[in-house]
Amino acid sequence: MNFGYRGKWVWIDLSRRSVRIEPADHDLCRDYVGGRGLQAKLLAEHLKKTGPLKDPLSPENRIIVGNAAANDTPIPTAGRGSCSFIGTMTRSPQPVSWVPGHKPVYGMITHSSCGGLFHNMLKRAGVDHLIIDGKADRPVRIQAVEGDIRVVDAEEDLFQVVDGKKVLRPASAVTDYLSGKIKSSSTVCAGPAGWNLVDFGCLTADHHRNFGRGGAGAVFGSKNLVAITAYGKEGVSPYDAEKFKTLGQELDRMIKESVEDPNRTVSFRPKTGTTWWLDRAFNGKYLGVGGGYLPWHNFDEGYFDPDDYRRVSTDAFLEIAGKHNVCNKCRHIFCTRTAKVDSGPYAGQGVRPEFETIALWINCCLLDRDAIFHLNSLCNDLGIDTMTFGSVMAAAMELSEKGFLRKYGSALKFGDAAEMIKALKSIAYQADDLGRLLGKYTDRMIAEVAANGGAADLDDILYCCTTAYAGLGYAGISPKVFPGMFTAYGTSNRGRGDHTYAWTIQAEEGGLTGARELAAYVAEGQAGKALVDSLGLCDFFTADVAAEPFLSLYHALTGIEYTPETLKECGRRIYTLERHLNNLQGRDRTYDAFVPPKLRLPLTRGAHKGKAVHLDFYNSILDAYYEIQGWSKQGVAPLPEGKTG
Ligand code: SF4
Repeated sequence: MNFGYRGKWVWIDLSRRSVRIEPADHDLCRDYVGGRGLQAKLLAEHLKKTGPLKDPLSPENRIIVGNAAANDTPIPTAGRGSCSFIGTMTRSPQPVSWVPGHKPVYGMITHSSCGGLFHNMLKRAGVDHLIIDGKADRPVRIQAVEGDIRVVDAEEDLFQVVDGKKVLRPASAVTDYLSGKIKSSSTVCAGPAGWNLVDFGCLTADHHRNFGRGGAGAVFGSKNLVAITAYGKEGVSPYDAEKFKTLGQELDRMIKESVEDPNRTVSFRPKTGTTWWLDRAFNGKYLGVGGGYLPWHNFDEGYFDPDDYRRVSTDAFLEIAGKHNVCNKCRHIFCTRTAKVDSGPYAGQGVRPEFETIALWINCCLLDRDAIFHLNSLCNDLGIDTMTFGSVMAAAMELSEKGFLRKYGSALKFGDAAEMIKALKSIAYQADDLGRLLGKYTDRMIAEVAANGGAADLDDILYCCTTAYAGLGYAGISPKVFPGMFTAYGTSNRGRGDHTYAWTIQAEEGGLTGARELAAYVAEGQAGKALVDSLGLCDFFTADVAAEPFLSLYHALTGIEYTPETLKECGRRIYTLERHLNNLQGRDRTYDAFVPPKLRLPLTRGAHKGKAVHLDFYNSILDAYYEIQGWSKQGVAPLPEGKTG
């Protein structure tokens, strides 16, 4: 019996148009837990056969979409699905002179977590994971309907002609069309950007949920794969239904209590979602701590004019928020709301943007709330990751103002919403020279701009580009302020700049400062997040997954018995396996230790005036971090042991 899981892994070879359904491997479900962990293992098996993947846009890239045991159960926040692949943005395959001791990296193993309904619907359709290889010879889509899984030709109606070129229609149109075809279904699809192989093209599920970071949309595009549509009705059977119900109610009560505790950060989420971090990062309004680390002007500063800030503050976004619009199976935390702008050039309906998106567009000096709302809706439709887009835009604005993008006809400048919207569309549709330049991973972009501007300008060009050397783009907390967070950014398995694999801000604000303590905190956070992603839960799940009653609840669901230590060991195993794969893709300490030149210059304003990344201290944290992880001094991880218990 497959308790918790549906027990079916579906192997799809698009080149042959073959579909093979096989039973799940129960040992792997125990040792790698589920979603992210299992997908890392399935990617490892693939790379063992193919060797390092030098081109993430080649048919050899494997992309896996699936769920985990907790998904579609009453466990609060059990609506997060997993997608894993080798990322397109995190590559620097050619030797470049601007990275000391440069070593080629060919793309990081990327896990992306997405909410909504799709992943639970895929489970109801009878599928745990779709393991997709190869490339179709013409546009196709996958449908999983009540156990029947097929690769079918993508309908002509899913495409439109833009500037004489056939391109996928926006994600909302693709989704609406497919839900008209398969009633009550749920769809995840690429948008025009992914179809055009933009390196930060994402996948969009259920209109506004995304597998955002890393380029999953571009991988779909490279495979001629438009969308996956799922429909089913069958639920999962727990191993011990009565115990599962009782313990589930207990856990539900605990989550509710934590949301109702005004001293906990989770208590802000039902009202403000993630946007409460705007005030916390700008002026420390929430819980009376923080401030001075909201990035401004392409990461130059962490503070700016408070009157300007008010236009894009937590309250400003509260003003346009509507009712809750949450992921399937979310309970109590309810972080997402609809949003509506009533009038003006950006009038429309959609969802309230998230903190990271807003922060990284404030970093472009964009102070127009309604334009931020509009751009966010456009990104969802065009299939563009909002965060990487923000980092790419901030760099492009600085390059443009310094005259480096004249040849590309760029009129980009900080704070100019209209030009940003124009650039977004140019990138998604690859419509002009500027769009084609900015849709590339950064080292290719730097090389092209430098070739046009002359080698003498190289330092100035590099100074603008914080995504240099295969960066994913720094998240919305200034990378200059917190050494622990900078280590989390620098060692994240899915690429430099990612904030989700470990989060240190509250700990550092609470006084955590020593190199070894920071390294240990980051390593523990990374293993814990690997578990949350492997269980199909949300980052905002407030219970400890390696403690009671969760462990007993998980046993009642799956029949798998973990102790706190064996479950944590699974998290470490998953993280180490991902690192091992990244080592094979070319990553080692050289990559982790790279610090973009701009980040070595101190902030000049605000509570953290004078702070910058200090190379010696960062390197001492890296030394401790590798030692704690059991990796070599060069950051090379062994292939981890595979067994639990
Ligand atoms: S807290 Fe937010 S992201 Fe998490 S499951 Fe609920 S609605 Fe989705």
